[in-house]
Amino acid sequence: MRVTGDQALVKKLNKSIVLDTIRRNGPLSRTDVSERTGLNKATVSNLTLELLEQKLVEETGLGASSGGRKPLMLLFNGAAGCAIGIELGVTLVKAALTDLKGGILLERSAPLGRHDPDTAFAVILEAVRPLLEEAPDTPHGVVGIGIGVPGMVDESGTILYAPNLGWEGVDLGARLEKEFGVPVVVDNEANAGAAGEREYGAGRHVRHLVYVSAGMGIGSGMIIDGQLYKGAWGYAGETGHMSIESDGRLCSCGSRGCWELYASERAYAYAPAAGGSAEGSGDADVRARDAASPSSLPALTTPELAEYARQGDAATLEMYREIGRRLGIGVTNLVNGFNPEKIVVGGPLTEAKEWIEPAMLATIAERALPYHRRELAVSFSELGSRSALLGAAHLAVSQFLGRVRVSL
Ligand SMILES: [Zn+2]
Repeated sequence: MRVTGDQALVKKLNKSIVLDTIRRNGPLSRTDVSERTGLNKATVSNLTLELLEQKLVEETGLGASSGGRKPLMLLFNGAAGCAIGIELGVTLVKAALTDLKGGILLERSAPLGRHDPDTAFAVILEAVRPLLEEAPDTPHGVVGIGIGVPGMVDESGTILYAPNLGWEGVDLGARLEKEFGVPVVVDNEANAGAAGEREYGAGRHVRHLVYVSAGMGIGSGMIIDGQLYKGAWGYAGETGHMSIESDGRLCSCGSRGCWELYASERAYAYAPAAGGSAEGSGDADVRARDAASPSSLPALTTPELAEYARQGDAATLEMYREIGRRLGIGVTNLVNGFNPEKIVVGGPLTEAKEWIEPAMLATIAERALPYHRRELAVSFSELGSRSALLGAAHLAVSQFLGRVRVSL
């Protein structure tokens, strides 16, 4: 029988619909799948058979009978392969080996001392190699690598601009693909974080979600009507560089008063006597810090400052209250502008959640427009600081599942 390109395409689309339905909603019987997808039972049976042969779907137990024989239930087989998720941070590279359902099998992290692309590439290799070596034997092997980066990325996986790393035009995706010989997906870390929360965390079943990633900078991943919104050229979400102080601190992007200078870990560099580590906290000290180089990194990390906060250090607690208030101001702008169902705050700053959250929520309650905040849910990430890591792995899985071939 001759098969036209159109038929092949339709079959491939149907197969990915069946797989996606089972993955998101399983266990389901073939009849359930047919009802949910609108595909006829014969089509569902044929496609399911292929998915069973490819080990991507497995049959399990017996479902409730609707009169006749009890049906076998279909489940997505997360153990059919593995993926690697990487989060390239400004000070740290994190990598995880996951199954196809986002279950973490192994994790590695390595500090990033210098920012030049060659150093970063070497640190990434050092984190990823052991994961590849220890990956379990599975039908599909390591299906791909996803990486979230703090910058703007084009479709080919080239990092066009990452101000906090000082990078322009770095072809990271191509280099990683050449090194490891598996498909690589590169995306902005906030987009990866939004994908992670939507798939596995606080954003499940949310159609209008803004994910705010707060670490050594701020970026947002916006899911509008169930789709990641990337803007005309893929650069949407650089909310860390929206001005919240018109004549405020000078930013590495060239503008002033950018949100991330006040509401991310960058704010630590400006806080007087944070952690009790600086002597004297007079106005002159504050002015000196405000004039500090916009690319200078803070002396203390969030885990270190969280320890001060736990011990009740007054300056640290005040600093986190102020970060919470500033976070709330930026979130209010996003809420008023986008009218999301849910805002999820994630990233490394979530480790200081308990000292940030009250001031952030109070500010949103005070400032957001009444109709916008009426049914709005605001929460911190359910995946802790792993949203981008798991989201990056999911991007690789999702690309692999999209490629699943059909036999004709
Ligand atoms: Zn800026």
